[in-house]
Amino acid sequence: MSASTPIQHSSQPEPIDPLSLAFDAARRAAAEGEVPVGAAIVKDGAVIAVAHNRPLALRDPTAHAEILAIRDACRALDDERLSGCDLYVTLEPCAMCAGAISFARIRRLYFAASDPKGGAVEHGPRLFNQPTCHHAPEVYGGFREAEAAGLLRAFFAERRGA
Ligand SMILES: [Zn+2]
Repeated sequence: MSASTPIQHSSQPEPIDPLSLAFDAARRAAAEGEVPVGAAIVKDGAVIAVAHNRPLALRDPTAHAEILAIRDACRALDDERLSGCDLYVTLEPCAMCAGAISFARIRRLYFAASDPKGGAVEHGPRLFNQPTCHHAPEVYGGFREAEAAGLLRAFFAERRGA
């Protein structure tokens, strides 16, 4: 048996936590005055893209975190599809991003906070449940929900106060 195999400690890298990377990206968005949403894409255990909301900076209403992460991941893989990739995002995707996630053939979607006002996964159009949606990812929601909602609340409270 391998009982004598020494356990390695501090030399090992920290396990990748893609949702934490997405949260870091969301905080970066807030610091830049963008709505704090962040996304990360993982393939085979490696993070291949991290992005945050940038519609103001890029003068681009489609520059949501998920869209930018999908573009970066496609460039990284030199492919127009992200089969076998998982997307982590701090907020339930909107209809545009849910559509892009479907077209990209994302395997699994993990999101933090629900978005009853703008979400399109478990609210509004529930895009992945429509017969016209030809690829639906597996969806897992509700991770660190309070933290994600708190980020958004703080951001909008500060803007109202400004
Ligand atoms: Zn979106």
